[in-house]
Amino acid sequence: MANTGASRVGHIPINLALLRDAGTLVDDSLLDAAGRSGRQQPGQNLGLLCYNVTKGIRGGGNDMLTFPIYLDHHATTRTDPRVLEAMLPYFTEQYGNASSVNHAFGEQAQAAVDAARHQVALLLNAHHRDILFTCGATESNNTAIKGVAEAYRHKGRHLITVATEHPSVLGPCEHLERQGWTITILPVDEFGRVAAAQVEDALRPETVLVSVMLANNEVGTLQPLAEIGAVCKKHNVLLHSDATQAVGKIPVDVQQLQVDLLSLSAHKFHGPKGVGALYLRRKEPRVRLEPLLHGGGQERQLRSGTLNTPGIVGLGKACEIAREEMAEEAARVAALRDRLYRGLLDRVPDLYLNGHPTERLPGNLNVSIGYVQGEALLLSLPSLALSSGAACATKSNEPSPVLRAMGRSDELADASLRFGLGRFNTQEEIDFVLEELPKQIEKLRLLSAAWQGRTPHPV
Ligand code: PMP
Repeated sequence: MANTGASRVGHIPINLALLRDAGTLVDDSLLDAAGRSGRQQPGQNLGLLCYNVTKGIRGGGNDMLTFPIYLDHHATTRTDPRVLEAMLPYFTEQYGNASSVNHAFGEQAQAAVDAARHQVALLLNAHHRDILFTCGATESNNTAIKGVAEAYRHKGRHLITVATEHPSVLGPCEHLERQGWTITILPVDEFGRVAAAQVEDALRPETVLVSVMLANNEVGTLQPLAEIGAVCKKHNVLLHSDATQAVGKIPVDVQQLQVDLLSLSAHKFHGPKGVGALYLRRKEPRVRLEPLLHGGGQERQLRSGTLNTPGIVGLGKACEIAREEMAEEAARVAALRDRLYRGLLDRVPDLYLNGHPTERLPGNLNVSIGYVQGEALLLSLPSLALSSGAACATKSNEPSPVLRAMGRSDELADASLRFGLGRFNTQEEIDFVLEELPKQIEKLRLLSAAWQGRTPHPV
């Protein structure tokens, strides 16, 4: 898929025309008003132009919708205003270096970092000293995999992971393979799941690490991580989990899951970009790690570099909010997601769910749509900010490797849409999608010879 995000946002004036073409949503007077009053929304949608359009949907309501509607919460999320507020003083007033504690500035920064460490630990049911701050999940995953491999190379040179992992897990594994390690990549079933028994069968005396993600970033499938944790514990093998898409959305308890290392990233749950953490078990067992970065010896010598105090404060605040609001938010977001899925099933023939029907993230819906070309469909939807797969893969023209690993045909893998719903989505937005998307699919299918002479689709 081409990287559609920027170009689609860049076409906002055309988007409005398309909205008018679509007929029912924006009449001429509304379009004119939006055109005249279209104004930048500070801090929203990466600072790009947004237009507020008073819409008449389902009989002329007056709800305000902001376009494009953001449905790409797996790629990133809006920083919660409460998080931003907590961060701001650490840029402007309390800007000390947390390692330079001979004065009040440094002490304040250190105290703020300590408080955030507790907030992160509380969300994961971990000890605060088991939390290392990083610049995000890519760094956490690299540190976990390469750092453990380096520290335990005397034990053996075998690692186990899964075909549907994020590139920031598969990349370090490939790097190790080039250095002579053997990597077992486990296949998944049609729902994207791996079984604990598969992990157990793949273990060897020389296995030093198993890395299995908790929730998939494309299809939202949850892995049976606690069962995999029990297997690894039984065989005395370390378990790392990339929990980047799960933390802040569903309960993540490192004791219950029996993981030894776990990666997370603030920007996936309404924290700021460029900050994350690695949970690293210090007891039973004590996990050893060779650092990737050498230098000033911050973070118990394991991650040198001046700490990003405002970012870390933001991560801590995002964890605190998630802990307090997760149960209610997950139920609300899942209800919106279910409304979207049911509505699409009612309106769009030849639509297939990708991922597990129940063992999935509350905000994830991934569907393949027969007889349309995925990129053409995305281009026809300028009013929606959503993606056809992982943000990291949208620059490649290949069908999603995750969907391919789940056995989807190239054709259906290519015609997939990933909806990522989050904290700020509303029912009005979902209802807009249910008006707009089926209409565009119908238009594209009218142009498709395959649709005219269709036979049931090979799934
Ligand atoms: N793992 C998963 C599952 C992800 O979805 C992402 C972000 N796309 C990452 C790791 C990388 O996170 P970061 O952007 O913090 O490096």
